[in-house]
Amino acid sequence: MLNLDTPVEQINKVGKATAGKLKKLGILTVQDLLSHYPSRYDDFSQSEKIANLRPGMNINVQGTLEFIQNKRSPRQRMNITEALINDETGQLKIVWFNQPFIGRSLQIGDTVSLSGTVKTDYAGLQMTSPEYEKISNSGATHTKGLVPVYPLTGNLTNKQLRFLIKSVVSIAEHLEDVVPKFIRRKYDLCDIDLALKNIHFPESKDLLNQARRRLQFEELLFIQLATQLQKLKIKSQKSELIEFKEKETKEFVSSLKFQLTGAQKKAAWEIINDLQSEKPMSRLLEGDVGSGKTVTAALAMLNVALNKKQSALLVPTEILASQHYSTLRGLFKNTEITVGLLTSIQQKVNSEEQIAKSKKEFLKLIEDGKIDIIVGTHAMIQKNIEFKNLALAIIDEQHRFGVEQRKALRKQSGQFRRNSSETGNTNIMPHLLSMTATPIPRSLAQAVYGDLDLSIIDELPAGRKEIKTFLVPENKRIASYDFISQEIKNGRQAFVVCPLISESDKLGVKSVEKEFKKLNEEIFPDLKIAFLHGRVKSNEKDKIMESFLKNEINILVSTSVIEVGVDAPNATLMIIEGAERFGLAQLHQFRGRVGRSSHQSYCLLFTESVNEISRRRLNVFTKSNDGFALAQADLKMRGPGVVYGTAQKGFPIFKIATFGDLDLLRQTQAAANLILEDGIDKHALLNQRVDRNANWLAG
Ligand code: ADP
Ligand code: MG
Repeated sequence: MLNLDTPVEQINKVGKATAGKLKKLGILTVQDLLSHYPSRYDDFSQSEKIANLRPGMNINVQGTLEFIQNKRSPRQRMNITEALINDETGQLKIVWFNQPFIGRSLQIGDTVSLSGTVKTDYAGLQMTSPEYEKISNSGATHTKGLVPVYPLTGNLTNKQLRFLIKSVVSIAEHLEDVVPKFIRRKYDLCDIDLALKNIHFPESKDLLNQARRRLQFEELLFIQLATQLQKLKIKSQKSELIEFKEKETKEFVSSLKFQLTGAQKKAAWEIINDLQSEKPMSRLLEGDVGSGKTVTAALAMLNVALNKKQSALLVPTEILASQHYSTLRGLFKNTEITVGLLTSIQQKVNSEEQIAKSKKEFLKLIEDGKIDIIVGTHAMIQKNIEFKNLALAIIDEQHRFGVEQRKALRKQSGQFRRNSSETGNTNIMPHLLSMTATPIPRSLAQAVYGDLDLSIIDELPAGRKEIKTFLVPENKRIASYDFISQEIKNGRQAFVVCPLISESDKLGVKSVEKEFKKLNEEIFPDLKIAFLHGRVKSNEKDKIMESFLKNEINILVSTSVIEVGVDAPNATLMIIEGAERFGLAQLHQFRGRVGRSSHQSYCLLFTESVNEISRRRLNVFTKSNDGFALAQADLKMRGPGVVYGTAQKGFPIFKIATFGDLDLLRQTQAAANLILEDGIDKHALLNQRVDRNANWLAG
């Protein structure tokens, strides 16, 4: 007897070859087979009698096979199968090309079902290359009604999959339903039997819709439960209580060169509020590029330091680490707070004189609590660092860390925790703040990051001008160089982003090396130009960034390494070569490198692509400066899988659900809460499935 875990090899008629093909689709068990949902359906729900056929109809007809024969067409060297079918109203001619096996698999007298488009030629009506099948008592599978069309690979066919799935789908009748009955009732969901049968072989559109909703609900429910459970787990642990130091915080805020935006204040307050509790904070701070997340986080670190505890700030790149290090040093220069930098190649504390400290000495300073804030790349989490009392871990640009890294970071939080030697309390874990510029709508973020509380900075600092963005045609390239040189004469700086480091055989794609040479030698021989990419040595990178920040370099040619976080307010020009090679979210990140001061900034896109869709995407980009709106647009054009799947490593990949249905998101969230109130332990099967489906969760 089959069950869900039965390997596909044990299904009747599945040989080694078919099993191998199924494996390529990730289908190993009956369960996998049943959750290999159709990507669409051919609608052959309309049947018609032969007498009523008209040219152009996309239709199903059924009748008796009266005649069938294979012949070769001499001129075109084609194999043609001709047949006639008859129902009680008339006769229809059928033609197939190069499918001689049809002539052998159908026999005169068979009742057949055919689906396709009706055409007309000099001999009258006919169907050319219709889907066909012989029908027996069980009715038509491939040609009648809503016929499933599956995602395929290799030479597996839809017919094979339909056949296989049909042969196992009846086990749904005996399945225990993972969605509890009270939830099904409350949210008007059909049971698993009806759902599985109708998602594969819909009896009607209505039943298909019911089936789809039920299965989407189930999938989202798993996610909601996984994130809620994660949240409960975290909240049951303990962190340091950080007292809010109002006076010093106010002093710090008034020492800033600017006024905090309302959104920054609100977010900072939410964070500080969380810190004033022993419950571990798990908060996601979301804010468009340039919205000022760093200073917001600094307010939290300030309070931690004033409580004589430590903070760690983890960032994805060395450039960003160095930059945050100097930004924080600047912000805290009138305080006692010490800031350290730790990457795989360097360590620094507060003043330059201390650069030469050996790594050992440096780690000792952390251990003794002599460094309040440690900024570092993930080298920081691989090392066995002992903190005296780490109370706050911040992850900047968290979307840049893959699931595995995020898992490691969370684990490392545990590590930090164990190594918090001061209290001797091994159960203390640091508060966690994740920061991202990926614009995820709140409802979506709540579904995917339900384990995190959310703060959104939805306001840019005052005085920022809209970044003017243009898609520049090649014949305006020279003119745009004049414009660039004019801006630079006015004291501004430019970034030039290229898709590649060096010229490869990928013809025509701009590379940093070649573009640098061209700009440096031919176009702007008088300007100071430098380049930056992943292969430039780390301390060299730092030097370049530093001179760029000091305006000793006019133009910086680089790969996407400058994508994240880099803050150079005097730069007002972002030139992107091969723009079609980047997603809108990434382009938006590049563009976010400029427009960080009150000077007017510009983003110039160049593309060699003549592809209409690329151009349309780029045009959308030139018209909007709003990360959320762009994400929405990209979502429409490319779908959430592509947009968030690539922008956001470690986003769940759905089989059937989407993030598009806000109602369903809300319902599943409420349902998850009801189940947790009821007690997840009462729902063993569900618990188990949630576990299995939660591997995208970072914790
Ligand atoms: P992001 O949110 O992309 O990390 P940053 O924290 O790097 O943004 O801030 C971008 C720039 O804006 C920095 O130069 C920072 O000093 C500046 N900034 C931050 N907050 C404000 C504000 N309220 N008013 C003016 N400038 C601000
Ligand atoms: Mg940032």
